[in-house]
Amino acid sequence: MTQYPSLYMVIDGEQVSGGGRRTFPVVNPATGETIGELPLAEAADLDRALETAARGFKLWRKAPAAQRAAVLQGAARLMLERADDLARIATMEQGKPFGEAKLELMMNVGLFNFYAGECSRIYGRELVRDDGFRSTVRHEPVGPVAAFAPWNFPLGNPGRKLGAPIAAGCSVILKAAEETPASALGVLQCLYDAGLPKEVAQAVFGVPDEVSRHLLTSPVIRKLSFTGSTVIGKHLAKIAADNMLRTTMELGGHGPVLVFGDADIDKALDTAVGGKYRNAGQVCVSPTRFIVEENVFEKFRDGFVERASKVKVGNGLEDGTQMGPMANPRRPEAMDRLIGNAKDKGAKLHLGGERLGNQGFFYAPSVLSEIPLDADIMNEEPFGPVALINPFKGEDAMIAEANRLPYGLAAYAWSGDYQRQRRLASELESGMVGINSHMIGGADAPFGGVKWSGHGSEDGPEGVLACMVLKAVHEG
Ligand code: NAD
Repeated sequence: MTQYPSLYMVIDGEQVSGGGRRTFPVVNPATGETIGELPLAEAADLDRALETAARGFKLWRKAPAAQRAAVLQGAARLMLERADDLARIATMEQGKPFGEAKLELMMNVGLFNFYAGECSRIYGRELVRDDGFRSTVRHEPVGPVAAFAPWNFPLGNPGRKLGAPIAAGCSVILKAAEETPASALGVLQCLYDAGLPKEVAQAVFGVPDEVSRHLLTSPVIRKLSFTGSTVIGKHLAKIAADNMLRTTMELGGHGPVLVFGDADIDKALDTAVGGKYRNAGQVCVSPTRFIVEENVFEKFRDGFVERASKVKVGNGLEDGTQMGPMANPRRPEAMDRLIGNAKDKGAKLHLGGERLGNQGFFYAPSVLSEIPLDADIMNEEPFGPVALINPFKGEDAMIAEANRLPYGLAAYAWSGDYQRQRRLASELESGMVGINSHMIGGADAPFGGVKWSGHGSEDGPEGVLACMVLKAVHEG
């Protein structure tokens, strides 16, 4: 049986812990028990990491594409070999079902293999010159990257944050979430074991605002990559602006799902219920606001409640668990607050709306309907296992509701009418749109939002290019 590992930072290739540093208790959200003590960086640790990242960049920017690709492919192979252990560790520290954690790891495997191929597809351009000049446009790695990854995908978020800079030829200092450090360290170890020089990628943990201010105000760092809430994203973007850093910001969402009367309602329900309670709803692209055409509203709502009531909640390490606990005590508190506020405003609660059990951070799969648009939950990302189902009349009103919020990460629509599908694909203000499907990503597809959901993309060729700058060279 997998043991939860000891915890450390990796700075200049050294595993750093102890030494009187402050620590952070890592808690298993299924039991509430402390399973590890994480060392937190002091200023001197961060200075050492910065000095190392500067050296790592000098080294890695010159590394041949074949070497960068070999490291990524090797790490992908090692992740496959270590998949069961890594997935169990992710479940222990984050709570999601083991099968979900394993799928998340498989996404890293696919992404590292795709990025490995991209290393030799970073083409430039030669401009047409009739005067004997030679003018070329080149992509060059941007420089050392500071990358901050949240806790909801403890393996996948660090994989995205590490894979792109390494493919591009950058160095990277990763601060993964303090709540899920061992998964991130496991992914990083696969890269080291595949031959990545230890100056190129490092892992620090700390008080988030101390670490981010220290790194982002250093002249060494040239890019910020952040995944997390819009509030923190705006805060970090302001700090990054003072140093004119390039930024990739993957922020919050409030996923609208438009369901039309001409859709295959059973297929929509089967897909949406699975998507809603995946990772206990703690997913930035989670389907959240169900905007249902009034002639199928009751059928959809009742079908949703029936399916949601059968979701098996439990410890993610137990066979048959479909939904684990929420990742930390802040989330059930937020659920109680948001669902309570919605009920006070007149919303109907059909299922859940309460914590489960007397240990850990479990919350019941929940369904609300007829929620007034001024309820907090209709405006603030719930990031939890709650579906919000409202009836609307006609396509224009449904699109207006989908676009009402300042978020624009993922939007979904269910309709059997081809012309309507085309209109929706064009009208929805969102970085990603799923039509009759909730599959909106893939190693080769850009993942990212518009409006307050951020800017820039991860994954796809765009993910690597986001870690590069252009240089135009004109030779006489
Ligand atoms: P939070 O907003 O404080 O933290 C979100 C993430 O940002 C965490 O990983 C945290 O370590 C990091 N963070 C916070 N302050 C930071 C700083 N100054 N510098 C660098 N990193 C910092 O709160 P939370 O309770 O962890 O999450 C609350 C909300 O965040 C959720 O409701 C959800 O809206 C959002 N969130 C989004 C994602 C996503 O995938 N987009 C992931 C996790 C959380």
